Amino acid sequence: MEQGRSLGLYVHIPFCVRKCSYCDFNSYAGLESLFAPYVHALQEEMRGLSGHWGPLPVRTIYIGGGTPTVLPPSLLLAVLSACSSHFDVAAGAEVTVEANPGTVDESYLASLRAAGVNRLSLGVQSFDADELRLLGRIHDGEQARCSLRQARTAGFDNVNLDLIFGLPGQRVNTWRATLQQALELAPEHLSLYALTLEEHVPLSQRIARGELPPPDDDLAAKMYELAEAELARAGYVHYEISNWARPGFECRHNLIYWRNQPYLGLGAGAHSWFAGRRWANVRAPQVYIERVEATGSPLAESEEISPALEMAETAILGLRLVEEGVDLGAFRARFGVEFADVYGREIAELVDLGLLEATPARVRLSSRGRLLGNQVFQRYLLNNLG
Ligand code: SF4
Repeated sequence: MEQGRSLGLYVHIPFCVRKCSYCDFNSYAGLESLFAPYVHALQEEMRGLSGHWGPLPVRTIYIGGGTPTVLPPSLLLAVLSACSSHFDVAAGAEVTVEANPGTVDESYLASLRAAGVNRLSLGVQSFDADELRLLGRIHDGEQARCSLRQARTAGFDNVNLDLIFGLPGQRVNTWRATLQQALELAPEHLSLYALTLEEHVPLSQRIARGELPPPDDDLAAKMYELAEAELARAGYVHYEISNWARPGFECRHNLIYWRNQPYLGLGAGAHSWFAGRRWANVRAPQVYIERVEATGSPLAESEEISPALEMAETAILGLRLVEEGVDLGAFRARFGVEFADVYGREIAELVDLGLLEATPARVRLSSRGRLLGNQVFQRYLLNNLG
């Protein structure tokens, strides 16, 4: 497999110190007794995959969660070492670990750096004390600043900060202050997510009981536009709907997803897209461990991806890339057809609506399209292109 087609490897660590009030991820608090068995199951899952496929070439590794850094350093290092043993990891591969302030110190971060981790993604979410309390985060703004300083001391020169906007009751001014404090830390990368709430999470229930105002979409759109302006002024490139980077620091792992290139997901609930199939592992950590130990496979579901579906997904994911959009030459080379021959009518309609821009080389979202680049718009695209 040539370098361009080598894989992204995602490893899911489904543990957290405590569950945040807005969180619908596959993550759990209070499962410390599963830490070691879970890491053992991950090693076994990797062994099974490399036994089946051989050591597949990998160009990015992303250890996410949950909060990977709730694991003791020795266990997280064991996960990293298993990745190197069972996959053919490229020299210079991007290796990211997600961490939350309050779960790392300088020595933990130094041990990750020494083990080859070269990108750190810190879940900061906000610098405002009231907002952090509302979100149920375990840390305050000062701990976030401290984690970033410690990461620099440990030698990390590629750090992402995650922030959330559009919180119930959030004001544009507190969002501006959070952005300014994030920019003062000069991260290489920023991921800014609009809050989306599933019905069953505690924050939704507080809104349903009338204790908090519902999120305001118009205000969230203003916050997004403010972020676009502030981050452009600070020299960041807006390269994906929710992601900004200093030039050259775009997240190579996530680019694999947006370019609809192959990846393997390991661990509870992780998804994979490889060799014409998409599959998902069982979600519950305990069941994942039992299944891997008993059968060697945690597979929950699997589907074949038809060329038509692969084309539609390539279009929809590519439109998330702000400048790159859907690269028409790459589309032709990959599918052997012209993008315009497949989607010409739909694209023309979306251009007329002011949602897309088409050039001879690419099709991408307009700034209005980006503003609406939320689930509603994704659904609209799915209905039209899917
Ligand atoms: S730290 Fe992240 S994964 Fe864990 S509960 Fe909070 S939002 Fe969810």
